[in-house]
Amino acid sequence: MLAASSTREATMDQESLRLSIQRKIRDGRLPHHSIRRIWSSPSAGETCDACDAPVLLDQLVLVGITLAPNKRAFQFHVRCFQIWESERHTAA
Ligand SMILES: [Zn+2]
Repeated sequence: MLAASSTREATMDQESLRLSIQRKIRDGRLPHHSIRRIWSSPSAGETCDACDAPVLLDQLVLVGITLAPNKRAFQFHVRCFQIWESERHTAA
């Protein structure tokens, strides 16, 4: 029972996360440009730009610099980065 409900919740999370990332790409909060440089490092508690949740200390954070003029580095959960990657191709 518990397992079934948490699986369902994870699926819904994934879907709402995908929609939220789509929205952020559209309104410019997430880059549409390709990433010029990307690296991963152990998290120091950074906030993910895609889902606005902190990256837990035992996870990797992916940091990316885009070709966008503002040159801000973006920080993602590994999972959020993968969704962003696929959504920005879809949105393009
Ligand atoms: Zn995230």
